[in-house]
Amino acid sequence: MKFNIAFPFKRYFKTTERYFQRPPGLIANIMMKQKYFMAIILLFFVSSNGFGQETLKNTFQVDVAQVTEKLINKYGEENAERIVRGVRHLSDLWFEDNGSGTEFQEFCMKQFIPSGPLLDNALDIAGQQFSAINGYQRELSLALDYPLVTMTRPVTELDRLFSQSEINIDFYKSKLALGIALNFPYYTNEEKEAFGAGWSRKKWAMVRLGDKFDFRSNPDKEPDPLPLPDELRDYTSRYILSMDHVLSPDLEILFPEGTRLNSHNGLRDEIKGLYFRDNPLERQRAISTIVMHIIYQTIPECMIGETSYYWEPKANKVYLKEGDKFVTTGFETEADNRYKVLHHNMVSKMRQDSKYPAGSTYLTRTFENSQLSEEKIVSLLESVVNAPEKKKVASLIEKRIGRKLEPFDIWYTRFSDNKNYKLDELDQLLKEKYPTPMAFQQDIPNILKRIGFPEFEAEFLGNHVVVDPIPSGGHANPPQMKGAKAHLRIRFEKDGLNYKGYRVGMHEIGHTIQQNVGTYMTDYYLLKGIPSSPYTEAMADLIAYRSLVALGINPEYSAREKQDNALAAFWFVCEMGSEALHEIRVWHWLYDHPDATVEELKVATINIAKDIWNQYFAEIFGVKDVPILAIYNHFISGALYLHSYPIGNIVLMQLEEHFEGRDFATEMIRTGKIGKLTPDLWMIKATGEPLSSKPLLDATRNALGVYK
Ligand SMILES: [Zn+2]
Repeated sequence: MKFNIAFPFKRYFKTTERYFQRPPGLIANIMMKQKYFMAIILLFFVSSNGFGQETLKNTFQVDVAQVTEKLINKYGEENAERIVRGVRHLSDLWFEDNGSGTEFQEFCMKQFIPSGPLLDNALDIAGQQFSAINGYQRELSLALDYPLVTMTRPVTELDRLFSQSEINIDFYKSKLALGIALNFPYYTNEEKEAFGAGWSRKKWAMVRLGDKFDFRSNPDKEPDPLPLPDELRDYTSRYILSMDHVLSPDLEILFPEGTRLNSHNGLRDEIKGLYFRDNPLERQRAISTIVMHIIYQTIPECMIGETSYYWEPKANKVYLKEGDKFVTTGFETEADNRYKVLHHNMVSKMRQDSKYPAGSTYLTRTFENSQLSEEKIVSLLESVVNAPEKKKVASLIEKRIGRKLEPFDIWYTRFSDNKNYKLDELDQLLKEKYPTPMAFQQDIPNILKRIGFPEFEAEFLGNHVVVDPIPSGGHANPPQMKGAKAHLRIRFEKDGLNYKGYRVGMHEIGHTIQQNVGTYMTDYYLLKGIPSSPYTEAMADLIAYRSLVALGINPEYSAREKQDNALAAFWFVCEMGSEALHEIRVWHWLYDHPDATVEELKVATINIAKDIWNQYFAEIFGVKDVPILAIYNHFISGALYLHSYPIGNIVLMQLEEHFEGRDFATEMIRTGKIGKLTPDLWMIKATGEPLSSKPLLDATRNALGVYK
């Protein structure tokens, strides 16, 4: 249920008129006494969707008005706001299969709980029971998914069937959702922003309970799935390039035997890693050229996946090896598969709009769910991407690499130049320290102590983490009830944890701290968590920043490291922020051109990427019309998620500034307890200020001053 003033106003007008005509005495009474009466009238008008079963809904208005009146008569005006809100919201969620209008009225009369001790008790019950529901559901899915997630034994078809056996509870059939909606009505994001600062923790817990059943989708409005050709399934995960078949313009093989890189992560990370190696430029340029061929879809199709061909990307020529010689051969290009997948993923999401009230789009829903408006996100990102510091950081990078910037240097990463250790030595040290997941798991309490957590908290939080090995990446699965543990999942090499895996592990430890504090230490179960995903990423990175302290290599998280991290965060927000702005603009473009073909979407995607490049990077890089910002896989997935990463770094620097000079562990635990308020309110409770890019810009200026 979201505000939609134009549409429901008409439908509810008649009903409301009737409501006012029926009990003139009561209304006049309320009018005089209720100071927020106008707000209630408004609420009545701005009721919501109730699409679908029009017949039921039309006769239903009378029941809504009647039962509202009866409840106010019975429970008094001190409950009027909740009654009007609750009955209205319930009427949106009440479908034909829930019963007639009379049954609706009976349900309201029976289930309504007046404010005070009875409602407080209901909140406690809901907290306990949702903890049980979420907790046991999570434990079960953890077990069912375990073989597929960890791959610790060969996965069978039966494993897949178990994993797909979802556990669903129909809260509408049991009417639990309806009882919650009536008593804990939903507030829009705008209302949370407007009133949230004045709400108590208890009121916030009630509001979050109401969020659980904010909207009921109508199965009749479910669009048919849009088919995707078999060969395009798993498109991005199968997009792996045989880099040992990539040639320089002099036809030299550029990468070691067996090098395989996926697009885009592998390609980008190789460019980043090469800054730490000797003579990286030719290989970085080759990868950058490959990235462009993928974006323009001029990549030879025969070079995707395992191949016997060789490729010189600069001239875009394909070769076969005959004896010692490379012989040119013809090839087909990729045929826009990338944009077929993008088009499919975006259009599939747009078709879901039919389930939601008029005016709801994938764009509006995404930003509503993140509780950060599109305007706010765009203005935060632009405040960094447009900052004058960008030019200065660019000059600093040029000084360090000893040449003019090239477009792939948006991924420059070597801001920290700690000479105390070498990567190979760190790998060796870590493999000896953590040969198995269990060795890492058992050391987590000690890791926490080394980064400053007191004995009890370190033992408690550290002992509520289980470490599972996974084939790649990293994540942390949160405990959903007391007694459960966080599951931290990272990759272990055959001979143990390397430094890259350990850094990911430290980041995931950060997630588990926030998760365990939420589950075990927050006052209201329904408030546990964090407002929005960038916030949890920021808290995880605060722990990752202390990776060398946790190893005992550095005595403390030094001012030097902070400066390096600020520069890295700034450059990252410039890069990823531009990619996020690109993604948002492409989404708007497709909503403006809903019948666009794959070819038109491709042209628009590339043109928008060039526009953004020209706007933010052309001047400092000295080159125009580069579409490199369109390479991300997340973008191809249509997830509209990219903004979370740069916003996460903006949050990170704001927390870092606040933590400066304060006790790190105390602040980590305190902020972990704040829970699911709005993002701005959370930040005010955490740091005293609303979310802002100022701390990032200040820290960047400070670091630039040091490196001048
Ligand atoms: Zn994370």
